[in-house]
Amino acid sequence: MLHEPGPKPTRTDLAVVGAGPLGLVTALTAARAGLSVTVHERAADFSAGAGWRAGGMLAPEIEAEVSSPALVELGRRAMDLWPDLFPGVERNGSLVVAGPREPGALDHFAAKTANHRLLGADELAALEPQVGERFRRALFYPSEGHLNTRDAYAGLAAALAEAGVPILFSWTGDVADLAAERVVDARGLGARDRFPELRGVKGEMALIRCREIAIRRPVRLLHHRHPLYVVPRADGVYMIGATTIETDVSDTVTLRSAGELLTQAYALHPAFAEAEVLEFNAGLRPAFPDNEPRIVEDGRLVAVNGLYRHGWLIAPALAEAIVNLITDRSTPAHARDAQR
Ligand SMILES: Cc1cc2nc3c(=O)[nH]c(=O)nc-3n(C[C@H](O)[C@H](O)[C@H](O)COP(=O)(O)OP(=O)(O)OC[C@H]3O[C@@H](n4cnc5c(N)ncnc54)[C@H](O)[C@@H]3O)c2cc1C
Repeated sequence: MLHEPGPKPTRTDLAVVGAGPLGLVTALTAARAGLSVTVHERAADFSAGAGWRAGGMLAPEIEAEVSSPALVELGRRAMDLWPDLFPGVERNGSLVVAGPREPGALDHFAAKTANHRLLGADELAALEPQVGERFRRALFYPSEGHLNTRDAYAGLAAALAEAGVPILFSWTGDVADLAAERVVDARGLGARDRFPELRGVKGEMALIRCREIAIRRPVRLLHHRHPLYVVPRADGVYMIGATTIETDVSDTVTLRSAGELLTQAYALHPAFAEAEVLEFNAGLRPAFPDNEPRIVEDGRLVAVNGLYRHGWLIAPALAEAIVNLITDRSTPAHARDAQR
């Protein structure tokens, strides 16, 4: 008997719009789940979005200071997903310190966050000697991590190429005109036509090189006016970040912010005074009024936005939820709050 060949199995065809951390991680998660994916990016390279300016702190516990328990759960889930997406993730914890003029700040921060250990002078000096030179106490969050965001763009792009996912740069089309079976709108602030309540929260940062300093994990310095964090990258490079300014009219670095960032770095360790300044930059974090992310399904389209100050952290957990939605699997409990 002749066997009629059945209909060719087709793979769900997915267009992802926006090549920020959310778009790239969603595309890779979807491709690995068997979908046929194409990424569409308006800019000519990866440097246009907020993600390019980010510190790369992967700090779900620290985020509890300003975020909901659901957001913290998303972050914790994402920490488990990151190593398969980008093996360059460092998971050696993070530190929080406070200067002598901030009495009570560390205890207050400890009360608002979980899964930390209070280190005394000896333990701090053993873990991070140069931080121990200036500070006698620190909160240590051992499960946290960080990544070099620019390496992560390159790593995700390489993984996408390996999975056969093209990234179409300088794409000028309209989301509504895409013919794909399913579309993910991950345009960050570019999606204000869909989400009029979306706002940009300005963040300024500096990249410096200082070979005299060998700090191995992110350090957050509490300060009533100018809180700051330092994220180590390879080769003596540190990302100093970041201001949080409620404006989205300007994405340039002001002289005042530049001065404050560098002065606070110097407060963390005086050797930073001799650092070479490599770059100043500013970006706009896409945020909803409640500073929580949203996943909105509208027919064949899934729009995801509002990743605010933790987009690199939570992107893998949101991507997991998006792909589950598209492939009709149930949404994991930790992502249900984001889904509207
Ligand atoms: C100074 C600073 C420090 C930060 N530090 C951290 C940190 O330490 N840890 C952390 O987790 N997060 C951090 N963030 C936040 C993080 O960068 C954002 O949450 C994240 O970038 C949001 O990801 P996204 O993909 O939604 O948006 P974006 O990164 O903004 O990417 C959106 C992309 O969509 C593209 N796009 C826009 N419109 C269109 C269109 N019409 N068609 C096609 N493409 C389009 C853009 O060009 C861009 O490439 C920081 C942000 C800033 C500014």
